[in-house]
Amino acid sequence: MAAEPQDDCLFCKIVEGHVPATIVRETETTVAFRDINPQAPTHVLVIPKAHYPNAAALAAAEPTLAADVLREAQAVADEDKLESYRIVFNTGAGAGQTVWHAHAHILGGRGMQWPPG
Ligand code: IMP
Repeated sequence: MAAEPQDDCLFCKIVEGHVPATIVRETETTVAFRDINPQAPTHVLVIPKAHYPNAAALAAAEPTLAADVLREAQAVADEDKLESYRIVFNTGAGAGQTVWHAHAHILGGRGMQWPPG
């Protein structure tokens, strides 16, 4: 658990510009980019620039930064004119987390089911 960039982290590489991404928003503390394998018409990932392995670790270490991520989720929804949307933080492999840098999925633009799969 560290806020320093991790050499083996894909999303740290996106933050540093070493891996290309379709960036839709950037602030001093966050980056938002389109998911490479979209599951909805809008599927954007909002990440803190600082490296934390998941959302809980981020919130525990830097609650203000966690709030920045949520604020950017709304900004993404506003830009894509989403009346409703879903924010997902997969946490742990069993929940589907595959990238170990905290990220919020912003999903919208289609009907949603509950409970999710
Ligand atoms: P997770 O499964 O919740 O950890 O979400 C990781 C997400 O990152 C998945 O939805 C992937 O499709 C997405 N992803 C993986 N590599 C890239 C990339 O290079 N650019 C954008 N999204 C990516």
